[in-house]
Amino acid sequence: ELRSWQDGLRAQFPILANHPGLAYLDSAATTQKPRAVLDAVQEYLVTGNANAGRGTYPWANATTAALEAVRERTRAFLGDPEPDRSSVHFVSGTTEGLRAIALDWLAPQLADGDEILVPFEDHQANLVPWHEARERLARAGVRVAVRPLPYQASSGDYDHRALPQLVGPRTRFVAATHVHHVLGGDMNVHRLRAAVGPDVPICLDAAQSVGHLPISLAELDVDFLVFSGHKALALPGTGAVWARDRRGPAFRPGGWSGTPNTVGLISLGAALDWLTAADVGRIERWTVALAARLTEGLRHLPQYEVLGCQLSLAADATAQRRRGIVSFRHRDLSSNDLGFVLHSHGFLVRADGLCRAGVDPDDPRDAAVRVSLHVHNTPEEIDGLLAVLATLD
Ligand code: PMP
Repeated sequence: ELRSWQDGLRAQFPILANHPGLAYLDSAATTQKPRAVLDAVQEYLVTGNANAGRGTYPWANATTAALEAVRERTRAFLGDPEPDRSSVHFVSGTTEGLRAIALDWLAPQLADGDEILVPFEDHQANLVPWHEARERLARAGVRVAVRPLPYQASSGDYDHRALPQLVGPRTRFVAATHVHHVLGGDMNVHRLRAAVGPDVPICLDAAQSVGHLPISLAELDVDFLVFSGHKALALPGTGAVWARDRRGPAFRPGGWSGTPNTVGLISLGAALDWLTAADVGRIERWTVALAARLTEGLRHLPQYEVLGCQLSLAADATAQRRRGIVSFRHRDLSSNDLGFVLHSHGFLVRADGLCRAGVDPDDPRDAAVRVSLHVHNTPEEIDGLLAVLATLD
């Protein structure tokens, strides 16, 4: 039953039909787009393209209304429990969203001696802006301590047991990630909240979870959630910051005075609709099962090391804690060479330093091959990949 559901969805990605010999295994970098998203863009451009927030003729009014509708669909997709109190700001992606929170919202509120907790082994996009905020404040004579949110190697999660010593009366903010972009681990955000208490804002980088697993802001209990449209089947240059409180960052001073990415946001609305109709919970089950198949296959190939392999064995795993991302290295081959071999066999994977903070992109020992999955991927693709990997000993 799951297979016929998946067959029907896979058939909706035109790019796959154009390249029957290729397996696209890099959805964590960017996702392919279903026809419904391409059609929505085309339809908008050939029937009513106009600027938003200005103009009084019907196309302009319809564009403004369409973008407001995307904002509401974003709230619904994220399970926003308090739409009257919260705000959704459109941004160009996760990187811009996190920067805006760090520099426009957080930095002006911090005082000398304040402390913030930020992850140090996550995506650089979730490290650089917090340090930039610290540096800007330091130039103005305000000293803010940036404390690394520690990892626990055995679970791949943040080390919640170490948190009590790190959290103090001057802790003002926590930045965290929902699903790790290299390890595929699902970070236990509930325990972060429990450690910092109800009053410290938590900002969640959800670049790898939106569109991959059902999101419920009501359950997550965070204050900001940021994601990129292009990783959720929409066009690049789109994304959103959800802020629990309307007093969010001033992303677009002057309201509609700047031109928004109208076409991109139309694609975002169509993508969220497509994901909802496809059933994100099923997409999650499908990709998690494929990732497990790959991890299991790699376990039988001793020349490979799976990064954060303990993740799927984590004792406290109440649910499957590894998502549709698996990264690994070969004992002898460099990850760049391994990537080259896989590409030559039609497997499009990521093979480099993976934008991981604290990792030297030029150091081959830090590189890895990453396989990241979406609903169009199949068990046959995983088995084919494993068959090629098995030939390299
Ligand atoms: N955070 C995470 C966890 C990511 O995986 C990525 C993209 N790889 C980003 C942030 C940055 O996203 P974008 O390039 O769309 O701004």
